[in-house]
Amino acid sequence: MTTTSCAQCNTTFAQKDLFATPRGLVCASCNDAPPIPKATPLPLAPVGIVGVVLGSLPFGLSFSTSSSMTINGVVEASSRRDYVALALGPVAALCGALALLAATKATDQKNLRLGLAAGVIGLGLVQILRGLGLA
Ligand SMILES: [Zn+2]
Repeated sequence: MTTTSCAQCNTTFAQKDLFATPRGLVCASCNDAPPIPKATPLPLAPVGIVGVVLGSLPFGLSFSTSSSMTINGVVEASSRRDYVALALGPVAALCGALALLAATKATDQKNLRLGLAAGVIGLGLVQILRGLGLA
């Protein structure tokens, strides 16, 4: 009798009890069990992850000034500037643009990569708007 070990649980079985699958020869219980999901890295270029970090920082960290001009007791103009957001927003958007560029060359999970990179650009733009006091 020929015995072979299951490709998944490594238990030895008679070859006739094993099933040929894309995962190799597996036993009946492993054939029923869902395949162990492979840990897939986040489909985002490292520069995009840097963009996410930089684009998220201003949410917790801010250095803002607000100024207003008051003429005869009436507020004429007011402006608010968040310099952390203004500094990091464009950098995050740039990182997102680089990640988007990398995503266009990717062959796997292209749409997800493009979407994530676009999200990083969006995050950077949000920070620019926040920095200008518009969001
Ligand atoms: Zn098995």
